[in-house]
Amino acid sequence: MTMNFDPTHIASLIPQLIERCPAVEWITDDSRIDRLSHDFYWFSPVLKRALEPMRAHIGVRPRTEDEIRAVVSACATLGVPITARGSGTGNYGQCIPLHGGVLLDLSGYNQLLWHKPGVVRGQAGLRLGDIDARTRPAGWELRCVPSTYRSASLGGLYGGGFGGVGSINFGPLAAHGNVLGVKAISIEPEPRTVELRAPEALVLHHAYGTNGLVLELEVGLGTAHDWMESIVLFDDFDAALTFADTVANAPGIVKKSVTVFAAPIGEMLTMLAAHLPAAKHAVFVLTAEFSEQVLAQLITEFGGVVSYRKTADEVKKSNRTLVEFTWNHTTLHAMKVDKSLTYIQSGFTPGDHVRQVREMRNLLGDEVITHVEFIRSRDGLMTCAGLQLVRYTTDARLNEIMQMHRDHGVSIANPHVYHVEDGKQGVISAEVVAAKLRFDPQGLLNPGKLRGWEQREQLALDARSATPTLATLPRF
Ligand SMILES: Cc1cc2nc3c(=O)[nH]c(=O)nc-3n(C[C@H](O)[C@H](O)[C@H](O)COP(=O)(O)OP(=O)(O)OC[C@H]3O[C@@H](n4cnc5c(N)ncnc54)[C@H](O)[C@@H]3O)c2cc1C
Repeated sequence: MTMNFDPTHIASLIPQLIERCPAVEWITDDSRIDRLSHDFYWFSPVLKRALEPMRAHIGVRPRTEDEIRAVVSACATLGVPITARGSGTGNYGQCIPLHGGVLLDLSGYNQLLWHKPGVVRGQAGLRLGDIDARTRPAGWELRCVPSTYRSASLGGLYGGGFGGVGSINFGPLAAHGNVLGVKAISIEPEPRTVELRAPEALVLHHAYGTNGLVLELEVGLGTAHDWMESIVLFDDFDAALTFADTVANAPGIVKKSVTVFAAPIGEMLTMLAAHLPAAKHAVFVLTAEFSEQVLAQLITEFGGVVSYRKTADEVKKSNRTLVEFTWNHTTLHAMKVDKSLTYIQSGFTPGDHVRQVREMRNLLGDEVITHVEFIRSRDGLMTCAGLQLVRYTTDARLNEIMQMHRDHGVSIANPHVYHVEDGKQGVISAEVVAAKLRFDPQGLLNPGKLRGWEQREQLALDARSATPTLATLPRF
């Protein structure tokens, strides 16, 4: 069925929508709808131009499964698009509706349902920071969190995120065993709820909420240590990188993150200016307090100098963590200092990653400033992911820079595109489309973002016979 996404037509359906669900909290204030309709898409000059004018017709903030069911049923009956939103911290315009409709704000659907050693289950709108606050007293915490953990939601991490701090131990969210189960609701006049267990539970992951609306998630937890935070400075970039690689690979050093910033990134993190003198290369490390002695030995061995050291207790009391300077927070801080900057996302080859980082730095000089995060790949191999800062000039040059990485064997998860597949090397996944046919037969979820939907008829046969594979899930 081809849906009519003409904005005037959709606008004409809104009064009926409200009439069908009078008890839920509808958001009709223009500025609020506008705010809810946008995320951090402006990190990309390309997406900023493309997505700025897009917005939903109306917002809605349900608090219970029954309220979500009522909204979904009404939208499916009338043919109104639905775009889910957790906390709106995505970087690629994931929660920006291309065809208006309803912006489904899930921030009020936020209960932690239960936790036990190693596992937690919560509603989609639950904030990641709130999960850790509840599970840490029992000695557990989320395995990998984005640097936006304070505000980002469980559903948003699953729908639009990758991983982050902790991925040095557990890999990205898509690694086997991190997501154990998902409860999704179908977008139909009489919605069905379905529990998908791993590995099938990953089929809706990182599809920007195009192929299923997630109600609950069950994810693995890791051991919560007392993490101390350090900044180590180096005069020489190679020494910084090799030190970071050594710490990342040392199995006996218990750690949560290792980040490398080439100069002049330190100067852009102005809130830490006292600890980041000009022209120094910096490594940010989160290690268990009991690993400090061996970390200190390595720092001496590689000629580093500690400029910042906070125990877990000091971090907690200060309410400032280095986490909020790593991953894409680095981009955020840098863009505050220099608005002409943007970034790229890259994946280096495990085993060859250190050489590749050096090679790309030598090739691109100060135009692309090295920022890498050490992580385990989905297969458990140590490598690093780049969130390099780019001195933006033109779209053509940005594309050229990304192509240069590909040409040198470095994968790119393009953050300047908004179609699901375009950020993943253009691969169209039959399983992802099959899931959309199953959960969203009318194509109402975040329409326009999944290229594969246009090929659904051709893909349907394959998808029906395929078992979910992890091949097309995000590598970054
Ligand atoms: C400064 C900064 C730093 C960041 N650092 C990281 C990082 O370290 N690692 C990382 O992976 N990401 C990072 N991000 C991106 C983002 O913060 C994370 O991916 C975060 O987990 C998104 O959560 P959210 O609740 O804000 O999602 P939203 O932005 O609200 O949504 C993300 C996507 O998921 C979909 N979605 C939301 N809820 C549901 C649901 N219930 N069912 C189906 N689909 C749903 C939305 O439609 C959207 O497509 C960063 C972003 C910024 C701005």
